[in-house]
Amino acid sequence: MADDASPVCSTCGLTATTEAEVTHARLTWSSGLERGRRTWTCERCARENLRGIEGKLDSQWW
Ligand SMILES: [Zn+2]
Repeated sequence: MADDASPVCSTCGLTATTEAEVTHARLTWSSGLERGRRTWTCERCARENLRGIEGKLDSQWW
């Protein structure tokens, strides 16, 4: 099995297990590369990350 066959959210540990979930995850999760390894962030965590980044930006502006 390929390493990226089952995306696992690096933030909350959510794992795509069924074929449908894997397909869905590949389309909607954010993927990145960390030291040559693929990392995944599920939809929910990506959204919360965005909010967190926006929050940080907001506080930096002040
Ligand atoms: Zn997650």
